[in-house]
Amino acid sequence: MSDIGKNIVVISGPSGCGKDTVVKHILKTDPRFVLSVSATTRAKRPYETDGVDYIFLTTQEFISKISKSEFLEHTMYCNNYYGTLRSQIEQKVARGKVVILVIEVEGARNVKKVYPDALTIFIAPPSLEELERRLRERNTEDDGVIKQRLYKANEELGFKSSYDYIVENNYVEQCAQSIIDIFDGKQ
Ligand code: 5GP
Repeated sequence: MSDIGKNIVVISGPSGCGKDTVVKHILKTDPRFVLSVSATTRAKRPYETDGVDYIFLTTQEFISKISKSEFLEHTMYCNNYYGTLRSQIEQKVARGKVVILVIEVEGARNVKKVYPDALTIFIAPPSLEELERRLRERNTEDDGVIKQRLYKANEELGFKSSYDYIVENNYVEQCAQSIIDIFDGKQ
């Protein structure tokens, strides 16, 4: 049980910092790593697949899982629920995998409380201007949501020093390799 934390990598970073692309690159290049697929109540984006990118749930379904203690952690982010299912971690670690959790700062803090050995990494954007440019370019949220996410990004950047490591995402491949190197250096 106590070794579970050593097989957990928690990655946070503001919306639009490119963390999903970086994580996809890690998963593609290093078979030791698998993703913890989170549950969420937010609407599915056109390019997302249910069960692969997220487990998409209704609010009622999500609340039912909370009441059954199925989540290791969960939170409300920009008016939607997000949570890490215990089963995702336990089953994947039991298979000998290192599980990557891509979650926001409150979730990261809660995972670290339960698993102090978990490695926590904050992916920082080169600048807030670049973050806004990437968010607008992605074109998946309307202006109100983008403003809300930028406000949240500013708030999240304030927590970066509480992570074990901070990695700037200038180039996806480089950022992904830095994370793998940090993980290997820690072993
Ligand atoms: P998005 O809607 O852009 O996919 O995710 C919004 C935020 O929720 C991101 O910061 C993402 O990392 C975070 N998030 C995704 N899944 C979880 C989760 O299971 N728990 C927590 N605490 N945050 C999550």
